[in-house]
Amino acid sequence: MELTDAQFERYARHLILDEVGDAGQEKLLQARVLVVGAGGLGAPMLLYLAAAGVGTIGIIDDDHVDLSNLQRQVIHMTERVGSAKTQSAAATIAAVNPDIVVEQHATRLTADNVMALINDYDVIADGSDNFSTRYLLNDACHLAGKTLVAGALLRFEGQLSTFRSGVSGHQDAPCYRCLFPATPAAGTVPRCDEAGILGAVAGVIGTLQATEVIKEILSLGDSMAGRLMLYDSLSGSFRTVKFKRNPECPLCGDAPQIQAVS
Ligand SMILES: [Zn+2]
Repeated sequence: MELTDAQFERYARHLILDEVGDAGQEKLLQARVLVVGAGGLGAPMLLYLAAAGVGTIGIIDDDHVDLSNLQRQVIHMTERVGSAKTQSAAATIAAVNPDIVVEQHATRLTADNVMALINDYDVIADGSDNFSTRYLLNDACHLAGKTLVAGALLRFEGQLSTFRSGVSGHQDAPCYRCLFPATPAAGTVPRCDEAGILGAVAGVIGTLQATEVIKEILSLGDSMAGRLMLYDSLSGSFRTVKFKRNPECPLCGDAPQIQAVS
């Protein structure tokens, strides 16, 4: 694969980085990334992945653009209120970078479709807003041997980690269940739509997720696998904590009990 003259110009600031260069840019153009949710985290992720030249981007979202989304979901426009989020995101991506192939999955992620949906992609990015989707993606990515870059938001805070417990050569890496063994009891952790979110915090975490996805594609620097980054916008601080694989983990532990997603 050869870069065109227009691509040399478009990606010039990548090409000048020795760690990316022509070979890295070609890798990005050939990469396939699945973004789950075209919402607060998905919006900045999709914009930066598209701008970076990630060649094929899948988007899963079964929702429509609502006026109350626009405070943080910067890929959607006022004129698209009422449109499918996958369609609205695809339209913005086409305007940003016509190199990108967008695969729209206007469906809800379930135990029945998750394995088929993630199978065609190299890296999966979780921008969902609920625990059941997070566990579902974690289990499916582990079983399918995919790298999962996950972000989460609450009020003025956000967090980010990478899970690759199922990826060959990384079996010592922990999974999401090692970090959060059980779903918090109903009502103890409110969702964004119930608790609110400072819109720009979604931009911070979604942009970090896009950065980590690009690093995973290019094998650049240190992966966030085994590390959880916590951002507190009110104190203006980042903190990173390490965590390990739990030998008792029902998914990636020494005696796994989960052998299929359910
Ligand atoms: Zn685990």
